[in-house]
Amino acid sequence: MTPSNSSSSAALPAPRAARRDAALRVGAGPRPRSCAGCREEAPRAQLLRLVLGPEGALLPDLAGGGFGRGVWVHPSPRCLALAAPRGAAKSLRAEVVTRPEQLTEAIRSAASRRVAGLLASARRSRSLAVGSSAVAEALAQERVAVLVVGTDARAAAEAPTIERAVAAGLALSWGSVESLGHLCGRPAVAVLAVTDEKIAAALRGAVGLANLQGYEARAAVVEPHAGTALREVASLEDG
Ligand SMILES: [Zn+2]
Repeated sequence: MTPSNSSSSAALPAPRAARRDAALRVGAGPRPRSCAGCREEAPRAQLLRLVLGPEGALLPDLAGGGFGRGVWVHPSPRCLALAAPRGAAKSLRAEVVTRPEQLTEAIRSAASRRVAGLLASARRSRSLAVGSSAVAEALAQERVAVLVVGTDARAAAEAPTIERAVAAGLALSWGSVESLGHLCGRPAVAVLAVTDEKIAAALRGAVGLANLQGYEARAAVVEPHAGTALREVASLEDG
């Protein structure tokens, strides 16, 4: 009845090697995770981490390093609806009470706070050009990593240089002119430019999550993603 060493060692390495190969395919980062919604494997960079909070609440962990038991999910309306509460409960083997709409709202507000934090850090590191003329200058010097245009910034958004940047996928639509101003210590700011690539990349992700649509609205917007045309986002938020 003793299993032979040769048969067990022949059976084990194959899946391990396959897993290692899969990890190598997605680059040198951490191994891929399964989405708690659709159950498909994806690189961590494409997934959002959710942690189990008190009383079965599922909370977004935008930085991905928070304490607690967690699951990963595609930040899409469909996968969030599958993950909250059932998919996450199954993965965590715990009671989860959060509904998709609550989770979407929690992600939106955490992402908005992150956007504000990233803009503050861009400002501190002097990687921020504020206002139409400073932005036009930064665009002319090709220093712009990403533009942020207030959702109600009609006049600035129609300026030819800004329109070209929007068309090129260089612009994000986020916040009101008043809230952008508040972050920059001015009464109103229609447009600002971030010149740091790392901050810009983090901003694209955070703005995508801040503009996340609910599951009910999935017919109106397929997937929030980086580089969404300004007008599409603006018209969705108007409606
Ligand atoms: Zn998924």
